[in-house]
Amino acid sequence: MKNTKKTKLVLNRLLIGSFCVLMLVLTFFFINYIGKLSNTRKYANAGSFDTALQAWQEAGVTDIPNVTGGPNVPSKAPDKVPTSVPAVKAEFSKEYTHLGEAEEVLAYESGIAYGLRYPVYEDAACADAVKAAAYELLSAQMKKFSGFADDECKLVIDYEDGSAGELVSVLFRIERETGGVTESEKQQWIFNKKKGRTVDAETLFTDRAYAAAAEAAEETELSGERETFSSYLLTADGAKFYYEADGSEKSVTLPYAEIHTYMAVTVNGNVVADRIRELDPEKPMIALTFDDGPHYINTPRLLEVLEKNGARSTFFVLGDRSYFTESNKETVKMIWNSGNEIASHTYSHKDLATLSLEDMIAEITKADDNIFALTGEYPTFVRPPYGSSSADVRKYANAPLITWNLDSEDWKSRDRDTIVEHVLAEAGDGKIVLMHDIHACTIDAAEILIPQLIAKGYQIVTLRELFYYKGVELENGKVYHSSYN
Ligand code: ZN
Repeated sequence: MKNTKKTKLVLNRLLIGSFCVLMLVLTFFFINYIGKLSNTRKYANAGSFDTALQAWQEAGVTDIPNVTGGPNVPSKAPDKVPTSVPAVKAEFSKEYTHLGEAEEVLAYESGIAYGLRYPVYEDAACADAVKAAAYELLSAQMKKFSGFADDECKLVIDYEDGSAGELVSVLFRIERETGGVTESEKQQWIFNKKKGRTVDAETLFTDRAYAAAAEAAEETELSGERETFSSYLLTADGAKFYYEADGSEKSVTLPYAEIHTYMAVTVNGNVVADRIRELDPEKPMIALTFDDGPHYINTPRLLEVLEKNGARSTFFVLGDRSYFTESNKETVKMIWNSGNEIASHTYSHKDLATLSLEDMIAEITKADDNIFALTGEYPTFVRPPYGSSSADVRKYANAPLITWNLDSEDWKSRDRDTIVEHVLAEAGDGKIVLMHDIHACTIDAAEILIPQLIAKGYQIVTLRELFYYKGVELENGKVYHSSYN
């Protein structure tokens, strides 16, 4: 009895003890949480220039302007005491789309009330880079007020952001107010998380992307010039292009599947040029292309032959076949990961010209989707089955259509030596050769053919490489039989 009582007492004490410890731990976490909350929302009250200055220095901005026009003071706060009562106050009035957390500073210095808001990202390199970009933008904008120091000035830098694959897109929205006049401006910023560096936003899209945006916009009179579009934002749904119409800001969003061939960087963040090897533009090039695959035995065999000879090719895979089995899926990934190129031979090898519009579009988009799911990139080219296309096919392919001008006739002869002889006899610089990696005899032929072509001075290239080195600017919906057509 006594023992039980003692045990109960000890248990009670233990319980109370644990409860106290628990409360302590909870209090600690609560304080920590509050601390974090106030950290993410840095708010410098009007007049506290030091806080802002510290943030500038943390962001690595060395070129901090002295807004009254004196020499820059990068290492310490200006001597002059900030005006205690601001005449104007900056605030973030508009709500733009923010993907996640934001950090903001509202401050007042020498007649300028300013606010800066920028995104906070989990990716540390991206977070640091966007912070530095935001403060550099602030620094540059503050300089624009020199000469207006006695007026009431206001500067608000807010942002919108979006992301697509490895790319993070931030559009800074700048508003400057001096003497009651407001000016606004936008500045875009793109970061590649995979590469850990910024991307040149000015050259991300070629001129054709802007032409496509103008065509897709509601306003029919819109010109397809780059200058028509003030800026863009990369969203999950596509590239959103901004333009002015009827005195207000409008936008049009184009899905990546439609414009990926007009982008210098594809949506998963691979720079297109990354998959283009350094080759000798003076030496002849030939593109061996392989249709109707993947084949889980023959294709990997062919990849080995290519690898052994330092050659690369383009594989026009079928969307359904790519997904038939796990080993077919793996084969598609193998092609892509080995540096070879994946292109679309449509979903199920139907003659596109004979299909209804709806079925024809489905044949293209279903293949696009399967390839994207396996490689993370939309196929750059489409080869219509039997080389058969129509005006509608060209319109909806959303890619250049690639046929051939040298048919290996492997499907006809099914004979190794005949294939080798025929291709060697017809080979020429800039030619596109039609072959099929589903036939074992084609791989047997490739084993002999590839070293022989190389011995003749040819570089065996992907289509991407061929068009790049031959200076062909590809257009969606146009048919190409070779690099010289
Ligand atoms: Zn075919």
